[in-house]
Amino acid sequence: MKIGVLALQGDFAEHAVILQRIGVEPVEVRLPAQLEELDGLIIPGGESTTIGKLANDFGLIEPLRQFGTRKAIWGTCAGAIFLSKDAHRQQPLLGLMDIQVERNAFGRQVASFETDLDVPALAEVTNSHHHQQEGEQSNPPYHAIFIRAPLIEKVQGNAQVLARLENGQIVAAQQGHLLATSFHPELTQDDRFHRYFLKLVQA
Ligand code: GLN
Repeated sequence: MKIGVLALQGDFAEHAVILQRIGVEPVEVRLPAQLEELDGLIIPGGESTTIGKLANDFGLIEPLRQFGTRKAIWGTCAGAIFLSKDAHRQQPLLGLMDIQVERNAFGRQVASFETDLDVPALAEVTNSHHHQQEGEQSNPPYHAIFIRAPLIEKVQGNAQVLARLENGQIVAAQQGHLLATSFHPELTQDDRFHRYFLKLVQA
């Protein structure tokens, strides 16, 4: 299995480290031709306007759209924005996922926070880094890190909600083989989201 990490801007290196740890050889993607050999692609966090602009300059927008119609893509934070249909502003978007996002929804002052999420879908995978104790929940809460994160305001069409904050706000969604998370699983030791994505790649 070959998984690419879009390496135009943002924290692509952190995703590559986790992929390696769970036994997948990551490919840093900067050119359209590199998509051809891949089974799936991760679009990292960073700055969605910059990622979009560079994708445009590198002739990647249409190839990425084509890739996403057939193969799995996971966008984290800025990557989730880039996957969306609507971010309320003029900026290059792939428009692959039927979600509407609000950028920097948690404001600039309190730009970062961490919280535990209940993610029922993660019951399908285990965290390789964590040795389960007897009597422990089989699907423990997922500790999520939010950095100038977007909210997923609307999940429409074939897209479905995967996780919400306690106040009901949506922070993860899935549409078939497409996955969007507002937060940064590449910054934690819990690799369940990466494993969950591999399942989508193989589905
Ligand atoms: N605030 C960034 C944006 O709007 C996303 C931040 C991130 O990816 N950590 O693109």
